[in-house]
Amino acid sequence: MRCTAARVRVVGIVQGVGFRPHVYRLATSLGLSGYVRNLGGSEVEIWVEGAADSVEEFVKALRDRTPRAAEIEEMEVRCEEPRGYAGFRIERSLGEREKISMIPPDFGVCEDCLREVLDPASRWYRYPFHSCAWCGPRFSAMYKPPYDRENTSWRDFPLCDECLKEYEDESNVRRFHIQGISCPRCGPRLYLVAGDGEPVPTSDPLREAAKLVDEGYIVAVKGIGGFHLALLASDDEVVMKLRRRKKRPRKPLALMALDAGTASRLVEVDDRARELLESPARPIVVLPRREDSPVSELVAPGLRSLGVMLAYTPLHYLLLLETRDKFLVMTSGNESGEPIVKDEEEALRKLRGVADYFLLHNRRIVNRVDDSVVRFTDGDVTFLRRSRGYAPRWLRLPRPVRRSAVAVGPMLMNTAAIATEGYVIPTQHIGDIENIETLEFLLEAIEFFVRAYNLRMEEGLVIADKHPLYPTRELARELADRWQADYVEVQHHVAHIAAVMLEYGLPEAYGVAIDGAGYGDDGQVWGGEVIHISEDSSYRRLGHLEYLPMPGGDKAAYYPARMLLGALVRNSNPEDGLSLFLSRGYHELLPGGLAEARLAARQVESAPRTSSAGRFLDAVAAALRVAYERTYEGEPAIMLEEYSWGGSFVELPLEVEDGIVLTGEFLLRLVEGEFSSVHPRDLARSVQQSLGRCLGLIAREQGAKRVVVSGGAAVNSFIVRGLRDVLGRDNVLLPRKLPPGDGGVSSGQIFHSVLSGRI
Ligand code: ZN
Ligand code: ZN
Ligand code: FE
Repeated sequence: MRCTAARVRVVGIVQGVGFRPHVYRLATSLGLSGYVRNLGGSEVEIWVEGAADSVEEFVKALRDRTPRAAEIEEMEVRCEEPRGYAGFRIERSLGEREKISMIPPDFGVCEDCLREVLDPASRWYRYPFHSCAWCGPRFSAMYKPPYDRENTSWRDFPLCDECLKEYEDESNVRRFHIQGISCPRCGPRLYLVAGDGEPVPTSDPLREAAKLVDEGYIVAVKGIGGFHLALLASDDEVVMKLRRRKKRPRKPLALMALDAGTASRLVEVDDRARELLESPARPIVVLPRREDSPVSELVAPGLRSLGVMLAYTPLHYLLLLETRDKFLVMTSGNESGEPIVKDEEEALRKLRGVADYFLLHNRRIVNRVDDSVVRFTDGDVTFLRRSRGYAPRWLRLPRPVRRSAVAVGPMLMNTAAIATEGYVIPTQHIGDIENIETLEFLLEAIEFFVRAYNLRMEEGLVIADKHPLYPTRELARELADRWQADYVEVQHHVAHIAAVMLEYGLPEAYGVAIDGAGYGDDGQVWGGEVIHISEDSSYRRLGHLEYLPMPGGDKAAYYPARMLLGALVRNSNPEDGLSLFLSRGYHELLPGGLAEARLAARQVESAPRTSSAGRFLDAVAAALRVAYERTYEGEPAIMLEEYSWGGSFVELPLEVEDGIVLTGEFLLRLVEGEFSSVHPRDLARSVQQSLGRCLGLIAREQGAKRVVVSGGAAVNSFIVRGLRDVLGRDNVLLPRKLPPGDGGVSSGQIFHSVLSGRI
């Protein structure tokens, strides 16, 4: 295309990230005239005119050289007649906003800011709150859109002369109209207080905090989306102290490393991992622990992987730099099961007795945002938690919705989602809705988005999970009442699968849900399902794992040996099943020993039944004595997967009959010792891979060429490998933008309602 003038429309993350000054600089450097302006709706319009070569080069450079935090989703170029503009201008945003604009996520510190913070000659030298167009807090600091300073918590810090000059300078690519800029003269301040709230007198709170950490104290650090607890990760006693104080016996703790070089001393960092670690979102990445890793075993007991992130604010970077190790445990500062703490007063109250000191600052955190967590699943990057750095980015719908909707999600690892215009917007990670605090946080997040995006919920739809006992369902009904909105429920695994369909833009799909638990249409606990969803939103359950009893109900999810016993009893007879269980000594895996085993065997008859893949993996983990208790969500299944590393695949008689995976029979044969010649590591791997193969076979038999995969256990590499053995690598689609786990369900609830035409 040769033209002397062009109109370019760019859609994506192009607002609040320095895109317009970038365009300005590019256009003026090529001698082009015209303008750039925000259109709202995450769109920017550019007009350039001048020499045809320059116009062409401009368009090419715009595509190839996007500023760090910006992201171009769509770009449309049209040739036009030159209008004779004199010079290039950044035009004021149009007053009325016709379209909504995306609230940008928080971005990790950029290289340029870091360089300035480390440069003794810079006016930002050792300034913990430095940020620019390419980095810094966004969502966590916003009261409401649009992203203007008076709508953020930076409004408490009026710009000094120097900062103001840069803010108004169109040619300043990193600071022109960027709301989060500040400097030591005009920005927030750090201070240090002791556990009892008494100020610690010091001229350098940062250095003092680092010294305290090195001495073995636990320091609560206020960051951008909430508080962390910072402590030595290399010292068993210190890690143990935290575990005792937080009453968290085994749940893995996140680490923060100064930089990628430091991280690679702790875990195996390949190119892809490094790219993720250093990406603007700066997630926690779960990676294989190095054999010579200096990290205490107690950071992730029994696991062969560690979750590591890089310092993502100058504050974190400067703190780590002053410490001995250059890496620390940085775990969310919260009371067990409660949302991450964001305010000082709340921190001093809730973290008292856990933290010895508090490193605080006076910039308000508006929206709590936990760290995001990603891992590799059979080579694909998948979310365990989608929050800071990603939320509240939106996903596009195939068509605009007819009315707004709010989906409240299920219960554990929860998020909510809203739908407006052509978008689904999942909230940040909320947590397990098991107490009033997280329920309130869920409501707070929903209300934020309803306000921020101006939803008219009186004509809207509220969507919930079908589970009759989920507190979120209660909340959804209350909201529907309050707004006089319509209300609908979507089955848990249908929503799981619909979420992946949304991501890939599929109007119809075969789905495999590899999950812990969800309320089934027959009132049983589902969780290992093959489901086809049609274009009209109707669905058919094509197959599933055999129903196994959960003796003692929920107790069976906490003590996996109960699941094993249930399967043995159900697949032989009560006496034989129990005596086989006892003869192998499995009752020792139960806290109540022999008596508990006897009781559990009697509970089998009346026990709830489940097709859950998670519960089956639990039973296998117990059978192989890899795990005996769940102290955090998914623990036995995670232990089983990690135990399988390095194992080889051997054929196992895990079979499918009429769409049912015969798990009970298999467990019986396993305990009877049929596979005793197979190395337990190979056995562990092969069970998971075979399970994947079985689910793949069910789908293929029903005509599936391609499946979407979702569910909390869908991050299991060996199960996914098994599915791919049957269907081919590219025909097994994992979610990449949403978590496969329950954090993705709210978006699926929305998409199912789009398919059904309700919205
Ligand atoms: Zn920056
Ligand atoms: Zn300033
Ligand atoms: Fe689920």
